[in-house]
Amino acid sequence: MHRHPVQCIIPPYMFEHMARSDDPGLRAMAVAALAGAAAVRAVRAFATQLPALLAAPSPGGRRHRLVYDARGRDELPGKLVRSEGEKKSADTAVNEAYDFAGDTFDFYHAVFGRNSLDDAGMTLISSVHVGEADGRGWQPMSNAFWDGGQMAYGDGDGTVFRRFTRSLDVVAHELTHGVQSFTSNLVYRGQSGAINEHFSDVFGALVRQWKAGTTAERANWLIGADVLVPAATRRAIRDMEHPGTAYAADPFLGSDPQPDHMKKLATGPSDSGGVHINSGIPNRAFVLVAQALGGPAWEQPGRIWYEAMLQLSRTSQFADLARITAQIAGESLGAAAKKAVRVAWKKVGL
Ligand SMILES: [Zn+2]
Repeated sequence: MHRHPVQCIIPPYMFEHMARSDDPGLRAMAVAALAGAAAVRAVRAFATQLPALLAAPSPGGRRHRLVYDARGRDELPGKLVRSEGEKKSADTAVNEAYDFAGDTFDFYHAVFGRNSLDDAGMTLISSVHVGEADGRGWQPMSNAFWDGGQMAYGDGDGTVFRRFTRSLDVVAHELTHGVQSFTSNLVYRGQSGAINEHFSDVFGALVRQWKAGTTAERANWLIGADVLVPAATRRAIRDMEHPGTAYAADPFLGSDPQPDHMKKLATGPSDSGGVHINSGIPNRAFVLVAQALGGPAWEQPGRIWYEAMLQLSRTSQFADLARITAQIAGESLGAAAKKAVRVAWKKVGL
């Protein structure tokens, strides 16, 4: 059994701000989240059940989804509440997890011919209503994560975060961590980890744009807008087009630390060497490529980035991603596209 890093949608620096809040409930939640209690315990529990759950792959691009209810605890997967083909549940979170996992499967299959995360029909397993114990007892988890074998979603604290199944880009972001574990499998630390986060943001946004039929000219590049409780100080967890502007002077979250250029690259040890921070740099480059090439971003830019995700190695750095995307653009689309990709990377300092 490999040891998988737990890949959460909410980065630690957001919880670090909340841990200093005046609100005792939010403080307790954030401290528990920083300790990673739910995620770490869940992985331990899941590891023993993984082989049985991964059995029964579906052939020929057919979806196979299972949704479980963790019933406010962190033992995953929980109770099976909806299997593939079963009718809608009375529980909205169950239906969102089911539908958005299906949309993500359909996107990868229709656009890239990929048959599930492993390209071999792997079952998509989701647990909803995941809880986390803090100083007050069991609370709804304020996060969503991919643990190497399944998705887990909390319902949020209700002050800053809402139900994590609400967002198609969050679901697709997490499932893309799954795709990556079967492809480039970039080490989740430093620049390679920031590329890992970047790919998840790219395909998270592209699945949402593909579902809505939105072209790059009209696209919205926000990640996780639907999981935040609305407030004037916050728009999303990240903004791929304008990194560093997703939230500002928020009483609970502070300000978005993402850089939009290499000269602002974060070099400290926190956030696994800035995996959710420095992803702002390639995110901006991708949006610039999408805007330069125009049309549906999942077509030409999406194809270039998907090929790059297959070709990169575990320790690739930003400069490798810049080089390989320009090379793929040149080979598949010609000199003008190659130049557009190079210009985009240059604008972010690469
Ligand atoms: Zn992630």
